[in-house]
Amino acid sequence: MMRSLLLYFFIVFFQVSLSQDFGNLNISVVDSNDSATFNYDLYLSDSSNVTVQSWKSIDRNELLIDSLASGIYSVKVTKGESKEIVKGIIVRAGKITFITVKIKPVETERSCDFVVSDKKPKCHVCKSRKHIIKYAYGLPTKKTLELAKQEKLKLGGCVIQTCQPRWYCTKDQVDIINK
Ligand SMILES: [Zn+2]
Repeated sequence: MMRSLLLYFFIVFFQVSLSQDFGNLNISVVDSNDSATFNYDLYLSDSSNVTVQSWKSIDRNELLIDSLASGIYSVKVTKGESKEIVKGIIVRAGKITFITVKIKPVETERSCDFVVSDKKPKCHVCKSRKHIIKYAYGLPTKKTLELAKQEKLKLGGCVIQTCQPRWYCTKDQVDIINK
């Protein structure tokens, strides 16, 4: 009798403590303009940085995680190359913790400003095509060296990069860029 009573109390106590030990976490995800953001991945980690739950391609900008054991969490949101981590989120028993994750776009590489058209462009300085010559890349031959000497083409070196000048103005001594 005593034993079952103890067990009963234990169960009641355990259940009460269990129900009191859970809280909710409400996460809103916005972009740098505070607009709702969709299609992101979300990772919930505990205080020891272990991912306890993750969601992929979320189609809502708000996520409610309920029945979360009270404690300290961190949330990581990723969208494409962008990543944002919020640490030290305290979830209290029987309470809802609201957080907003602001996901900033990744700084994109500066676009290539050089004019890359096949047609001889106008110089952005003198506004003329008169002194425009073309770049030659790769190992120069005897002929290209001679043409370079005569300023009929410009040697660009051997290294081929994704963004490199194609046209040059001999008068202004500039690489032609889009302006
Ligand atoms: Zn020019």
